[in-house]
Amino acid sequence: MPERPDLEHQVPILARELVGRTVTEATVGLPVLLRVVVPGRLGELLPGHRIEGVRRQLHFVRFALAPPPGAAPLELVVHPMLAGRFQLCDPGERLPKDCGVALTLDDGRQLRFRDSEQMGKVYLVPAGRQELVPGLTPVGIDVLDPKAFTLAAFTALAKKRRDQVKLFLLDKAQLDSFGNCYADEALFAAGIHPKARVSELSPVQLARLHAAMVQVLTEANAVIARVDPPLPDKHRDHVKVRNRAGQPCPVCGEKIRASGVRGHDAFFCPRCQPDDKGRGFVDWRKPG
Ligand SMILES: [Zn+2]
Repeated sequence: MPERPDLEHQVPILARELVGRTVTEATVGLPVLLRVVVPGRLGELLPGHRIEGVRRQLHFVRFALAPPPGAAPLELVVHPMLAGRFQLCDPGERLPKDCGVALTLDDGRQLRFRDSEQMGKVYLVPAGRQELVPGLTPVGIDVLDPKAFTLAAFTALAKKRRDQVKLFLLDKAQLDSFGNCYADEALFAAGIHPKARVSELSPVQLARLHAAMVQVLTEANAVIARVDPPLPDKHRDHVKVRNRAGQPCPVCGEKIRASGVRGHDAFFCPRCQPDDKGRGFVDWRKPG
């Protein structure tokens, strides 16, 4: 899934390549992805619109569209979910089967949103109506804004929570933002079990987690900027526990394990991230 560090890298590329371009043709490959909340069809509505801006909001990508004369301004909002990815290609390349939406641009190139899992969503809404996109608002505290994401602010949020810490980190209305991958990485860096209850974390553990959240996102941003993966690739070689069940922990050598946290899988090191309450050790899936 593209998470914040992936999108922090991809969105500026999209903005650089797309802003100022006008859509000449819009083709829908996977109608199941579409959520059009304006009257009409996407293929008829989009041509003539000029891309005015591209920006990240949580794990969404927002494309502001300026209308041709007589039409209303629209916004295209894409939620890539598990497997969605953007591709910019030259004309003439055949449309792949996993292409959800393809926008042909006035420079002849095509922006494709591809999704092999068909779990992503492509919303077309009137400009300024972000409330029509589920999950786009509210936006939690920006974890990378040191003025906003203070230890005091984080502790105040945590005090309201009774759930498992991994779920807290995934709550984008509270924190901007973690998906499964970097939530696991932050908990590993903090030495906290993903099933630990937020209400049972000590002030020291909360402080460690707060620092780890900033560190993990900052380092991921730096690594991805250095590697500079081209669209539509995402770079994950640097992660320490995510999707590494059965591999040795890079700190202690114990095998990384996987477990489920309310429908989300979690990867962790049982030695570096002990469960102080003794919970959770019964349902580990077999590594691998
Ligand atoms: Zn370990």
